[in-house]
Order: sequence, then C-alpha cells, then structure tokens
Amino acid sequence: MIKVEIDSGSGFCFGVVNAIKKAEEELSTGETLYCLGDIVHNGREVNRLNTKGLITINHEEFSQLKNVKVLLRAHGEPPETYEIARKNNIEIIDATCPVVLRLQKRIKQEHDGKQEVTTPAPNEDIQIVIYGKNGHAEVLGLVGQTAGEAIVIEHFDEVKELNFNKSIRLYSQTTKSLDGFKRIVEYIQEHISPKVTFEYYDTICRQVANRMPNIRTFAASHDLVFFVSGKKSSNGKVLFNECKKMNENTYFIESADEIDLSVLTKDIRSIGICGATSTPKWLMEDISMFIKEKVKELEN
Ligand code: SF4
Repeated sequence: MIKVEIDSGSGFCFGVVNAIKKAEEELSTGETLYCLGDIVHNGREVNRLNTKGLITINHEEFSQLKNVKVLLRAHGEPPETYEIARKNNIEIIDATCPVVLRLQKRIKQEHDGKQEVTTPAPNEDIQIVIYGKNGHAEVLGLVGQTAGEAIVIEHFDEVKELNFNKSIRLYSQTTKSLDGFKRIVEYIQEHISPKVTFEYYDTICRQVANRMPNIRTFAASHDLVFFVSGKKSSNGKVLFNECKKMNENTYFIESADEIDLSVLTKDIRSIGICGATSTPKWLMEDISMFIKEKVKELEN
C-alpha cells in the first residue's frame, strides 16, 4: 500500500496567518477591503479571499483611491505608500509581519546614522547592501527605508561589483537562503579594504531557515515528493531547491491539476506533500486526497 503524507512543518508562517486573520476580520464587518498586492504568493488562497470580498489592487490603483480601507500584506511597504494613504485619507490595515517591520526599522536607523549596533567613524561613507530579490515587495519596502540608496544583491556574482574601499553594512531579505548569505559574507570579508569597516546582520527569518533541515529529512524519507507553492513565492523556490537536492523525484506544483500522473508508478511506496510558508494547509489536504484517489486506482 502506498503511503501519502503531508509534512506537518509546512504551511503558513505566523506572518501570513496574521495577515489572513486581519483580512478575514475586516471582511466580516461587510465593509469594502482592498489589499495592496496579492495577500500571499498563492493564487488559490488569493482566490479564496477574493470570493469573500477582498479586492486585490496594484500600486497604481492604490494611488488613485481615496477614503477607503487598504490592507498592507506581510511583506511590508516603503514609506511612500504610507504617505499616499495619508494624503488620500486611506485607512491602512497594517499586516506587515513584525519580523519585516523590525528589519525596516534597523535599515532606516542605519541609513539615518542612528543604528546603535554599528560604530561608524564620523562621516563614514557606508554602502547599505541588501541580499534579496530585485523588485520583490519586501525588498522594495527595505530599499524605501534608505531613500532608494541601498544596493540590492540578488545573485552571488553581483557582490563583486561592490566598492570594497567603502564601508559595507549587509542585511538580508527575510526569505533568502542562509548558505547564499554566508557566501556573500565570506567574499566581502576576503576583499574589503582594511581601511574601512564591514558589518553584517543575518536577518533571515527563522520561520524559513528552521524549516530547511526538517524539509530535507522529509523529502529524503519519501520515494516521490510534491512541493506545493505559488510560483511567485521566494521561500517556495528556496525550500523546493532543498527538497530537490535531497530527492531528485520532487515536483513543483501549484495545484492538483499540475500533477503529471505518469510519475505515480507501482514501484513507489511513499509520497510526500510539502510546501512553502505561503502554502495553505487546506490546499495540501486537497492534493493529498486527489493523490490518494489516483493511488487507489493504481492499486486496483
Ligand atoms: S517568512 Fe518570516 S518574515 Fe516572512 S512573513 Fe513569514 S514570519 Fe514574517
């Protein structure tokens, strides 16, 4: 008999749980609620909330609105968004994750020269560097704390373009991989001029980093793995790559209809289902039920 198991450690992180809870509370009052960007990088969950009345808008649409309520999702927003809301009398329902808020504050203090943990020499010229995905909402929110001055490094090779004769303060988007961050730290340490300073802050969220060892073990313990995530999810990509490294027989799917049924063969003894911090549990359960039905057909 083929075993089908859902990874108990996969599913929404507390930042996403909090944002969805806030949205559902607001929607239950019956008032119109807008959300700036997809509330979570998962199309199925976005659709579920849209049918409950949540209206997803982009930044251009946001700037045209007046006298309405808008929810800001867990990724956070740059200061300009709050400024537009103030001018247009928009009530903000702020669901920015506390972890992201803390990081925004730290970067702002660094930029404004008020970061307590650093000891810059007077007038020290500092490059604020963020290891993160260009254009990602969280990264835009972080860069916004520096009036657009922070340098974003998305891929390792980009670290080589930094000015090593100028001090560097390195931060990370919360969902980047710890290994990638460490590689960048090592490169800077090797190349930075002794005349300037380098400080780095591992600001990777443990909701993602702590899942790595578990998800690796989970993927390795099954013959076949379905990793469920929206394609836009950053941590989805990171966690999927970890699963794939441990088990070649891992497939990235957004929903059950993306399953290639030819991979369900009779020699498979166990199937694992896991996902990102933006993957709803109900979706993994739906997929598990679908697979169990297909497995039954295969076994009969
Ligand atoms: S991954 Fe971490 S930082 Fe991002 S929303 Fe979830 S809890 Fe917050």
